[in-house]
Amino acid sequence: MHVRQLDADSILRLWEAGTGATPPRRALLLVAAATPAHEASTLADMPVGWNVGRLMELRHALFGPQLACTAVCASCGETVELGVDLPAIKQASESLPAVEVFGRLTVACNGYELVAQRLTLADLLAVESATEEPAAALALRSIVTARRAETPVEPADLPAEIWRAVEERLIAADPLADLRLEIACPHCGHRWLEALDMVSVLWNEIAALAKSLLFDVAAISRSFGWSEAAILALSPARRRAYLELALR
Ligand SMILES: [Zn+2]
Repeated sequence: MHVRQLDADSILRLWEAGTGATPPRRALLLVAAATPAHEASTLADMPVGWNVGRLMELRHALFGPQLACTAVCASCGETVELGVDLPAIKQASESLPAVEVFGRLTVACNGYELVAQRLTLADLLAVESATEEPAAALALRSIVTARRAETPVEPADLPAEIWRAVEERLIAADPLADLRLEIACPHCGHRWLEALDMVSVLWNEIAALAKSLLFDVAAISRSFGWSEAAILALSPARRRAYLELALR
């Protein structure tokens, strides 16, 4: 575990800063809050999957290792519930035979030779303001050099099968960047892969926690007249006990 626990005041600050922010910006805020030894600019330059690993650790530290998810079966329309064990997913991805974090990837396919790099949060932030379609803009950012028979090729001119090869290679090298859960419907047997978006999972939980903290502050200050700072500085056990007294 690389992350630190966040206190009540940090949770509220995080929620305040991230409200209205885009998902990559929220991811950066969450990881920066949890790993204070890193500069935000350094975190942005780490691969997306590395940051998702830190989000999983923060989720574990704040709310526990088990995630209860639901998905709707496209075949029969039933809601499927599944439990996700975050440390198991993280360990399976991080123990893959690959790749130092900053290593570049070479892809050779149909006479083309490419050097690619894993996408970072900085890439996700950069394409938010790009004019191209985001997926295409991201794909272009992943290519360092492209050649065919020793002749440089413009990345934009690469054929579709080369893009597929690059994409497969990037996902294999940074699996947490594209998390998918294997689901089998217990009602009809239909199987599919469901994307797991750690940024929105964790953000929704942080937002709910922030709102319950604000509720506690409002109720306790109404009864006892204490300041927000004083109430947030209470230990969770004391805050709960005073809340019970305030609500009596
Ligand atoms: Zn089904």
